[in-house]
Amino acid sequence: MEIPPGAGSGPEIAPQRGSDTVHTRLDAALAHRWIHELDRRLRASEVRLTELDAAIGDADHGANMTRGARAAAARLADGVDTSAAQLITAVGHTFSRSIGGASGPLYGTWFTALGRTLPSDHDADAGEFAEALLAALVAVQQLGAAERGDKTMVDALGPAADRAQSAARAGADLAGTLRLAVGAAEDGALATVPLRARRGRASYLGARSEGHQDPGATSAAIVLDALRRAAGA
Ligand code: ADP
Ligand code: MG
Repeated sequence: MEIPPGAGSGPEIAPQRGSDTVHTRLDAALAHRWIHELDRRLRASEVRLTELDAAIGDADHGANMTRGARAAAARLADGVDTSAAQLITAVGHTFSRSIGGASGPLYGTWFTALGRTLPSDHDADAGEFAEALLAALVAVQQLGAAERGDKTMVDALGPAADRAQSAARAGADLAGTLRLAVGAAEDGALATVPLRARRGRASYLGARSEGHQDPGATSAAIVLDALRRAAGA
């Protein structure tokens, strides 16, 4: 018997949002895409992050970050979270649980504070996202006591939070805000090269930490760039 085209294929499936869709709000779908993109990006950057940490640390930052992102992506597959806020908070808990070293609790705290500060009853716009970035930075600094210029992830997360705030206040949408925040994070990571580490394992090296890019500042720029890309910005 001949089956007419399309018959028996069930209801039409809505097209998936692709990376060519520009997201104007941080909704649960975008948060999902972010973490899967982060998982991919960190795997691609694992060797570089390991090399950076080998120079001024203990060569585990690449492995730490990929382990965290893989666990977070697997956790999302459970699909129990209903909002971006809940989902990102859960990612924070997963990072805290699954990564050893300094970066586990620090990124765990960053994601958890980000998720807890995002609105729980609606999807965040650029201004609300920028507020959450600032709260997440404050939480990381409360935990790790790093100031800007200490050659840590704060040197990327701090300028990103500032740039996001000023962009959102000037009326940029989420995509524009993300583009500017990522640029600031990347500049901040590059600017760690000449610095002397004053926090974390690299601080034990004193002057010998100068001349190397900080691994955590580098991964922080990747974390934000994964969101930018997921948002189609
Ligand atoms: P560990 O140093 O325990 O091996 P990782 O190698 O995973 O952990 O992470 C190292 C990164 O963590 C550093 O490059 C730095 O950016 C960040 N870091 C370390 N200590 C602190 C701190 N007190 N505050 C903020 N970031 C820190
Ligand atoms: Mg390390």
